[in-house]
Amino acid sequence: MERLIAGYRKLREEVYPERAEQFAKLERGQAPRVLFITCADSRITPELLFQAEPGELFICRNAGNIVPAHGDHTGGVSATVEYAVRALKVTDIVVCGHSDCGVMRGLLHPEKVASMKSVASWLGYGERARAVVEHVCSHMDEEEKVMELARQNVLAQMDNLRTHPSVAAAMAGKTLGIHGWVLQLHTGKVDAWSADSEQFAPLEQVYETVGSR
Ligand SMILES: [Zn+2]
Repeated sequence: MERLIAGYRKLREEVYPERAEQFAKLERGQAPRVLFITCADSRITPELLFQAEPGELFICRNAGNIVPAHGDHTGGVSATVEYAVRALKVTDIVVCGHSDCGVMRGLLHPEKVASMKSVASWLGYGERARAVVEHVCSHMDEEEKVMELARQNVLAQMDNLRTHPSVAAAMAGKTLGIHGWVLQLHTGKVDAWSADSEQFAPLEQVYETVGSR
């Protein structure tokens, strides 16, 4: 805890006074344009990765960046999605998976998490990704499978996202785009799903072309 308390002290003594005006403005409300759904993994730092300021990203995190389909599980994720789309009117939702994800490893080795009832149950939402990888990626080694699972899981969760009425309505009205990204932790490199080429490609490359939504 010492580390956190020292950090808090630095924030209060140095960071807040330096950025007083910015934080005073934030007190009056938020208008983030992006809902960023990612894994709870401590190595993912969305604001640092995308050089975003406080107030810019509405973030939803859970183990495995899972979005249960509408009706499957009304909880924190569905409420966050609905609030982001209906109240905040975000223009984009990003589902961001990552390399070396413990949840993806759990999908590959369910016996290792069998004693953790909540985790084992939550992993059920990754079953589609696991089935795809098992069917078409049997030649891959463990690390390649974990990475491919992260990609397939992002695609599955994007599809789940589309089942939410708020998302479906906003997409139909062309006021919302959804995006699938996968982060490589050790390089900070992000690959994005390209609907045009139906594959993941470097983020800069995918967003060079107009209409990448
Ligand atoms: Zn993870």
